[in-house]
Amino acid sequence: MRHIPTPIVTYPDRGAVVAARAAIEGALASPLAPLRSAAPGVPMCILSGCGWQDTGGAQRPVALARAFAAAGHPVIYCSKLDHGVAVRDGCLVTDRMTMAAAAPALRGAGGVVITTLPDWTPLVQRIQEQGWRVAYDLIDDWDGFVAGGDLGSAALRQERELVAMAELVTCSAPRLVERAQRLGAKRTALIYNGGPEDPFERPECPPCDMLLGSTQAIYSGYLYGSWFDWSILWRLTGRRRLATTVVGRYSRVDALPRVRFVGERSYADAMRYVASADVGLVPFAGSLCRSVDPIKYYDYLAAGIWTVATPDVKPLIGRPFVVTARPDEWPDAVASAARRKARPTADDVRANAWSARARQMTDALGISESGAGAGAEGLPPERWPHAAALAAPEAWPERQVSEADARLRVTWEVPATCQMAPACPYCNNAAGRAALPALPENWGGIVAGIEQLGEERGPLYLSVCYGEPTSQPDVIRAIGRLGRRNKVDVSTNLLFRPPDIAEWPRSGNIRLATSFHPHAWGSVGAFVARRREIEAAGIECGVALIVAWPPYAERIPGWRAEMEAAGITVEVLPFWGRWRGKSYPEAAGEGEESCLGRPCRAGVDYLFVAFDGTARRCYLPDAEVLGHAIGAGVRMLDKPQPCVSRICPCPDMWRYLV
Ligand code: SF4
Ligand code: SF4
Repeated sequence: MRHIPTPIVTYPDRGAVVAARAAIEGALASPLAPLRSAAPGVPMCILSGCGWQDTGGAQRPVALARAFAAAGHPVIYCSKLDHGVAVRDGCLVTDRMTMAAAAPALRGAGGVVITTLPDWTPLVQRIQEQGWRVAYDLIDDWDGFVAGGDLGSAALRQERELVAMAELVTCSAPRLVERAQRLGAKRTALIYNGGPEDPFERPECPPCDMLLGSTQAIYSGYLYGSWFDWSILWRLTGRRRLATTVVGRYSRVDALPRVRFVGERSYADAMRYVASADVGLVPFAGSLCRSVDPIKYYDYLAAGIWTVATPDVKPLIGRPFVVTARPDEWPDAVASAARRKARPTADDVRANAWSARARQMTDALGISESGAGAGAEGLPPERWPHAAALAAPEAWPERQVSEADARLRVTWEVPATCQMAPACPYCNNAAGRAALPALPENWGGIVAGIEQLGEERGPLYLSVCYGEPTSQPDVIRAIGRLGRRNKVDVSTNLLFRPPDIAEWPRSGNIRLATSFHPHAWGSVGAFVARRREIEAAGIECGVALIVAWPPYAERIPGWRAEMEAAGITVEVLPFWGRWRGKSYPEAAGEGEESCLGRPCRAGVDYLFVAFDGTARRCYLPDAEVLGHAIGAGVRMLDKPQPCVSRICPCPDMWRYLV
């Protein structure tokens, strides 16, 4: 039986928000507890604008966080693009709201908060109030961004407050050091960007779509910036023996002779192109790049090749293995750089690795020794036991979730079996389920994917319904696992006994919607007795559902009265199907207002996970696909979209219409 449970509060009131934050803080407080203990590494909290996975995790804040963790510091990484709480590469990764809620839990841990963006200033202040030291990592010339309209002027006011709060301003370029000093920084340190820990070997065969020539040049990186000087690429086309390959996302570029665009690649793939090249390009021009230390320079260094840049990229002037040339000099400069005999060594690479930069930063803060001795894989478990435990979801602390706490409502269609034999005469999906295996392929992956969804976008309000969830022990186990940290409603026929669900948490997160199928019970009394048995075992039974199958029509009022006398709320569901040549419900679709074209929040606040794991906007078979429970995950809609159906058959979903 398909049932969608009672409404949740989609827009929680102020009290509910406070309750939600308390729940999140509770969830985070446990992993943070060791920060209060005498762990050798000084804890560090990084507030950043980059998501953990951005550009393969090669951005400065993520790379530094990893290096701090590898050096033995407990690290919390917080960005505007991450969601929930997760452990990644030995760092606790979380979002802004969770961090704000959990800030009081940092009291007494005595750490350092490092921020890269001025608009984190209010949160930095809150963390400073817990006794943490403050550093500001200045990586861009925000004056230039405000002048260019890319940033509001309020950012500059917040930046002045941040500089006043910070005991140290670390800067990724010499001009930024001057800027920090002009802003009144108490102390500054020049800490360039960094790169890989070890050199990249040149592959025996270059990637098959790399453009080959006597000299192979490479550009790998962002192609949309106003600082990218396309005229330089055009100039290179005049050099006959030079073959240039460009790795990076673009929507449309004109074909250029002797230049090949191979599109965006993963970091590992991109480095195969770089390591197959003879020279690396940084064709940037303009005032914005005067304060930019290009990370690609360090990738080129690790690949053992020279870099050619324009004089506008001031941080590269005079650096090892760099040739600077005006745009008209580039064809000769590129050819000459490719022929240089001296090449970067492994020592050059390590001296410029992110671990070296992290060490410079902790030296400047005077906390390097506190983290000494950790392994390269991040904190050993005994140094941060909860972090290691968190990597195994079943060890995550339980979180009690009310309906108002839930941030995303999900219906999950599973399993395909039901122990009712024979099937109920009004079952509207028995025929469709009969063709399916009991559980989908990749069952474990789907469960893990929904669990991850709960951490990233949850807590979830999950509704499990299709066949009978308790007919499959694996589904019972999955409900128990997901119910530890999410609200779960289970639509059930109650044909199971309390020992079957002994492993479910008794936090109140899991609740049953019980269907009364008269042919299976004989009497209302037997059904009510089973409900009592389940409730005595600690699982709440909510509404009782009865299908208005025509042969039952006359007896339904009596059953209803008997249940209501026992204190049970009853809901009578319409029968969908045919009986004695007639279609039911009789008035289906008539007089209903069409939803076609009306904006609906399904896909924003609600998700449907079909039996095979496909995530759709809603339960309609042709609803927009938003991803899959496994792998790349789900892309939620960011605002209501028009409905594409004339009728929305489930009244429970009408609340999503705006
Ligand atoms: S056959 Fe099973 S799934 Fe279908 S209505 Fe009956 S109890 Fe529910
Ligand atoms: S109105 Fe109903 S059918 Fe249309 S998108 Fe929303 S939930 Fe789906």
